[in-house]
Amino acid sequence: MDTQQIAATVAGAGDLTALEDVRVRLLGKKGEITGMLKQLGGLAPEERAAFGAQVNALKAEAQALLDARKSELEGAAEAASLDAGWMDVTAPAPERPLGRLHPITLLLEEVIDHFTGLGFEIASGPDIEDSFHNFDALNIPKDHPARDVWDTFYTDRGEIPRTHTSSVQIRTMMNRTPPMRILAPGRVFRNETIDATHHASFHQVEGLLVDRQVSVAHLKHTLETLVDRVIGRGLKTRFRPAFYPFVEPGLDLDVSCVFCHGKGCGVCKQSGWIELIPGGLVHPNVLRACGHDPDEWQAYAFGMGFDRMVMLRYGIDDIRRLYDGRLSLVRQF
Ligand SMILES: [Zn+2]
Repeated sequence: MDTQQIAATVAGAGDLTALEDVRVRLLGKKGEITGMLKQLGGLAPEERAAFGAQVNALKAEAQALLDARKSELEGAAEAASLDAGWMDVTAPAPERPLGRLHPITLLLEEVIDHFTGLGFEIASGPDIEDSFHNFDALNIPKDHPARDVWDTFYTDRGEIPRTHTSSVQIRTMMNRTPPMRILAPGRVFRNETIDATHHASFHQVEGLLVDRQVSVAHLKHTLETLVDRVIGRGLKTRFRPAFYPFVEPGLDLDVSCVFCHGKGCGVCKQSGWIELIPGGLVHPNVLRACGHDPDEWQAYAFGMGFDRMVMLRYGIDDIRRLYDGRLSLVRQF
């Protein structure tokens, strides 16, 4: 066996295990080079020195080739394992979908925050009402033409999916003694044709304050502050007289249209104004129906069309977008 054969054998070892086999075959106890050394004993003394030196050189060479191949194979194995575990730390992280709050929820939290800061408590009532709480106690007796104003749904049993959150006013006033301030957010239902500004189910936020010597000035201030703080956007406001059976006097708060800045557009029906919050001083008949003396206690109430408020705040020009369940809307908040 010569140097070239040894080099070829060592180079042929494809991995560390094969290389160890090669080492044993050459240098092991029964290895070829070891075997050559064993032949030394059978040689003539004068041949021994030269042959011994030759075999020892071969052995050293084999050892060096084995060492070199070993570090080569180890290097390759390390590179392979690094490759396998390679990671691009600059790659964008995979997206983890996070839940978002619906804009109605977001704005409602702000409005609740605003009113609780003014000493209002949050109240609620059932979605399905009876005629007394939805109409009668609100000064809308049966067969009164005003009932037609609210396009009412009825259940098979004659119950009413409430047409307004004003029913919570009645429930609160009947169960408590004045003074009181409540805010009642909730869902209401109307038998309406659905279009860009109307929906059959939407949200109202009812406000009620019962105290002594309550006037329209208190209501106006409350609503103007609300628009300014919660919607912002430098909106102009105006009040118009309005008729609702459960208030006297009644009024509507309009805000300037955010979509056309007062010039007139489809959303504001070319008027430049958007009707936002109806309200007024609670009618003496309503206070009486709830067991309070209108000579002693007065009250103001309002019922803001909350979806419209959300649309104004965030510049959403179609109410249906709030309800079509598309994540593309919610992801923007
Ligand atoms: Zn407009």
